[in-house]
Amino acid sequence: MANQTDQNSHSTKREVNWFWVLIQLQVNVSAIFSLVYLFKNGFTWSTLFFSILVVFLGWLGETAGSHRLWAHHTYEASKGLKIFLMLCQTAAGSGTIYGWVRWHRLHHKHFKTELDPFNPKRGFFYSHYTGWTRKLSPAQEKVLEEIDFSDLENDKIVMFQKRWYYLLAFLFVFLLPTNAPIEYWGETMAVSIAAATLRYAIVLNLTLLIQSATIIWDLKAGEKYPMDSNWVFVLVKTYWLSYHYLASWDYQTSEYGKYGDDVVTKFIRACAALELANNLKTIDSRTVRSALTKSVAENKNISECLLELSEKDENVPKDHYLNPKKFY
Ligand SMILES: [Zn+2]
Repeated sequence: MANQTDQNSHSTKREVNWFWVLIQLQVNVSAIFSLVYLFKNGFTWSTLFFSILVVFLGWLGETAGSHRLWAHHTYEASKGLKIFLMLCQTAAGSGTIYGWVRWHRLHHKHFKTELDPFNPKRGFFYSHYTGWTRKLSPAQEKVLEEIDFSDLENDKIVMFQKRWYYLLAFLFVFLLPTNAPIEYWGETMAVSIAAATLRYAIVLNLTLLIQSATIIWDLKAGEKYPMDSNWVFVLVKTYWLSYHYLASWDYQTSEYGKYGDDVVTKFIRACAALELANNLKTIDSRTVRSALTKSVAENKNISECLLELSEKDENVPKDHYLNPKKFY
């Protein structure tokens, strides 16, 4: 009997979470209908600009908030900035910060294994959709217990959102953004609902890409993309996604594979300049080279060497975010 319990706790079988399956199906299918409806029936410019803004804010909540601030602590934020990012993250409608960070840390810790909830080795569809719509396996639940989440449990803003999530989500995902176009510039209810549905699908897919982007944009071992021919439509192949899995504490790595010049990185720099964010963690090129040499010479893990040397990095000036190009 005890043996069977032990076997069950090692099981990697994941049950389907029908709630998220239905959300995924409903959101993606109705987004296509909404898009057709909007082009057939028209919409106002105000609704278009408002929709772009709402998508941007939801995406900011997930990237600058859930990912770079709460999951990886790549910088520290003031209380006001945290509340703003928490509300933006709520508007994205992809679950609580607490839940998102737990799965993301599990994804990093067991990257590309059966314990990774978004295991990229199983292909794009699994990493992007299936992984999110399955419950964690007993084995994943077990290893989750070994990961420290005390920072989240001690964060009043994260726990406030967790406690009141359904009410906040109702307000910030549905009620307020759907009501605003009707209330303030006389948009029809049908157009406003169609725009909200489309926005939700876009933000949800952008959020899911944080984990699955590695399949689309990451260079595989041996793959070579010369600088003058690395564009395939909008795809830029890059090693920066792999870098994120080695140095997840660096605030400059974009979720989609760029480094140092994406919008979220600039947003964090602007917040630092306004004294809303501080302690932006990064590393300079010379120290990266030293870490690689140390890793080879001492046969140590690259991630550990990068973290160890970055903590002692005296080449990084305190205000590096004000002049990043010069710094590199
Ligand atoms: Zn990450």
